[in-house]
Amino acid sequence: MTSTEMEQENAAIAKEYKKLLQISYRLLTNDDKKLIRKAFDIAVDAHKNQRRKSGEAYIFHPIAVSKIVASEIGLDATSIAAALLHDVVEDSADYTINDIEQLFGETVARIVDGLTKISSLKKDMDVSVQAENFRKMLLTLNDDVRVIIIKIADRLHNMRTLGVLAPEKRRRIARETLDIYAPIAQRLGINDIRLEFEDLGFAAMYPLRHRRLREAMTAARKHRKEIVAEIHQFIELRLESESFSATVKGREKHLWSIYRKMREKKKSFRDIMDVFAFRLVVDDVDQCYRTLGIMHNIFKPVPGEFKDYIAIPKANGYQSLHTVLVGMHGVVIEVQIRTKE
Ligand code: MN
Repeated sequence: MTSTEMEQENAAIAKEYKKLLQISYRLLTNDDKKLIRKAFDIAVDAHKNQRRKSGEAYIFHPIAVSKIVASEIGLDATSIAAALLHDVVEDSADYTINDIEQLFGETVARIVDGLTKISSLKKDMDVSVQAENFRKMLLTLNDDVRVIIIKIADRLHNMRTLGVLAPEKRRRIARETLDIYAPIAQRLGINDIRLEFEDLGFAAMYPLRHRRLREAMTAARKHRKEIVAEIHQFIELRLESESFSATVKGREKHLWSIYRKMREKKKSFRDIMDVFAFRLVVDDVDQCYRTLGIMHNIFKPVPGEFKDYIAIPKANGYQSLHTVLVGMHGVVIEVQIRTKE
């Protein structure tokens, strides 16, 4: 690198760091900023001779991870600092976990230690160890949930920059993301990230199928629009006439869940796209059941498809009423009814 290139890179690093402070979802106090600055300086020093596969300075990665933690997830300053330091102990001979504890105190050190342990756990682990077991280990080994969340942010940045890796490695990481990290994100209620994991994972695992499905989806969307609007209006009017207030939303299906359904249930793309999904949000549980009654009154329910996840919540705590109805012109409508909560 020439000295001009180095200057340019340093300026880019400084710019990213400045952005990190600006985009934080939480208000940062002066003490917070001091802590984050210190973590940044140590991370810069620890990774000074390292580069990523893409050729850029390694420090861009921990900054990107801490940006996800700060703005997309909205964690505290301790987590932002820990995210900046997340690869320091693992990748650098200059800093041990004791150094981190001396410099940043016990909490930051405990989080960084948890993150380092997850990485070494993975390296030692046999590929044959089931995803399920690994998921359980991740969730039980760490009593501080911030460890898992920073790990998720770490994975998200790696998934976003997957393109530079060899196809074989790309697929392995994508598989792991779909099997392990997407379900964890879902369990933690970070749904945006779960969907991004699934979409990026699907695209990396099966680039061709992903592209075809996306094209088919765009084509189908135009024709669906009118039908969705018609059903939507019909439901809303009926609920209104019963003086019921519910928020009615058409639910767009995501590529990965469509693909999975096609495979698991041996259905065609058209079979799945012919189903229209809606979500009704009401004020309380009592209204959920009454809304269900109204829905079964308007449209004919499909036998055996009603599921009461309010009385019997799913293992992940999910609560909602599900039913399938036959609407106008024989269109199949999937309805979920739940409270805001
Ligand atoms: Mn990392």
